[in-house]
Formats: sequence, structure tokens, C-alpha cells
Amino acid sequence: MSLLKLANVHVGYGGIKAVKGIDLEVNAGELVTLIGANGAGKTTTLKAIVGLLHPTEGTIHYDGRDIAGMPSHRIAATGLVLVPEGRGVFPSLTIEENLKMGAYTRNDHDVIAADIEQKFQLFPRLRERARQTAGTLSGGEQQMLAISRALMARPKLLLLDEPSMGLAPIMVQKIFEVVREVSASGVTILLIEQNARLALQISQRGYVMDGGLITLADESAALLSNPKVREAYLGEA
Ligand code: ATP
Repeated sequence: MSLLKLANVHVGYGGIKAVKGIDLEVNAGELVTLIGANGAGKTTTLKAIVGLLHPTEGTIHYDGRDIAGMPSHRIAATGLVLVPEGRGVFPSLTIEENLKMGAYTRNDHDVIAADIEQKFQLFPRLRERARQTAGTLSGGEQQMLAISRALMARPKLLLLDEPSMGLAPIMVQKIFEVVREVSASGVTILLIEQNARLALQISQRGYVMDGGLITLADESAALLSNPKVREAYLGEA
């Protein structure tokens, strides 16, 4: 069953057309990836889904209704949560405070503490640093915190924008493992990545974006062995 469905979505910045009529679907329970080079339009697509940009054309159906043009705070309240590129943690708040902020839309206060504990089990490194301010964490730790904070909202659909960006290789591995675990726990995920190989290895289906258009859509395993993908996105001749 489709949880998110974009049809003929166009998005621009003034006169600049960044997304030029794309179709994209994420089914409940799936981990889907959107890969593509710099400037392909991936982030613009995510911004349109969460209501930070409004499409000039097309429809975005999420959980049974068209959310295109809906204000972002209303979209967030429906369980659609974005972890933006560059993390977006509150640097002057502690890890614990950041996690509590992630649960601001919830009113089941008795289980919030248990949810925080669960995040500490997922990322023991965050527990060790629970009272440290987020601004003093390494890039990888901030990414762990950003993902944990997003999970505190108990999202129905989690959108991740380049979670591995700028991280050391070991941390990249860890982040991908966690994304896989979160997916296995039942959260539906749309993952945007430049690290196409790892993204295709952990996802079920993938879309390739180029110049504001979706140029390929297939099972991730098929994309991994597609000669065009191998040459253009996996660094193979
Ligand atoms: P990256 O991985 O570099 O973030 P991307 O695939 O996410 O790439 P977008 O950030 O969506 O690409 O950018 C798509 C196009 O829109 C690019 O040509 C970019 O220059 C343009 N663009 C992005 N943000 C703006 C903006 N605020 N104003 C004008 N043009 C923009």
C-alpha cells in the first residue's frame, strides 16, 4: 500500500525549475532510496514533500490525502519527519534536551523516557554524552542525534537527506547500519544519498534523479547491476 505518492511534481525557485515533473512512490514499510549527482533536485524534492517549498504543479499524496501546498507544521503533525542535510540539531541544548524536543508533538509523557532509553541503546555513544551540548559532538554523533530526535516523534514516514555526508568511513558504515535497523523496526523511510552503493545495498527500491527528472526506477538490486548506474553513480567504467 502506498504511503507516499508523488505524481508529476514540479518545483522551482522563482524562475529556476529544479524538479520537472517527477513520479515517486513509497509503500508502507519500505526503505526506498533516491540517488543522483549534486544539483539533481533531490533536496528540493524532499523540501516539497515536507511543505518547505510548494510545487507549482502535481500532487503529493501522503497517508490518503493530497498534502501539496499544506503548511509544513501541519505536515509534521501527520508523522512525516525530515532529518535535513547538515543535521539541524539544537547546538546549545544537551543530547537529552534535543531528544525531548523531538517528542514535542506527543502527549504520552509516560513513555517518552522509555523511548529516550531505547535511543541510548541504539546509540550507546549518545548515552555517554547525554548531558553534553549537541554543538560539542562530532559530525557522526550529531547525525546519530538527529536521527534519534526524529525517531522520538514516532514518525510514520522518515525522510533522510544525505545522512552520510561529510562523515568518516567508519561512521558512514554505522549510520547505514542504523538506517537499516530503523527500517527493520517497521519505520517507512525515503533515503536521499550520494553514496549510491551503500544506499542501494540497504534499500528495497531506488530512483535515480538527474537534471530534475527521474531517469530510472527499479528494485535496488537491479539498479546495482545496471551498467548505466554502475558507470555514472558507482564509479565503475
Ligand atoms: P545536493 O546533493 O548538491 O544537495 P540535490 O540533488 O539535492 O543536490 P537540490 O539541492 O535539490 O539538488 O538542487 C536542485 C537545483 O536547484 C540545483 O540546480 C540548485 O542550484 C537549485 N537550487 C537549490 N536551492 C536553490 C535556491 N534556494 N535558489 C535557487 N536555486 C536553488
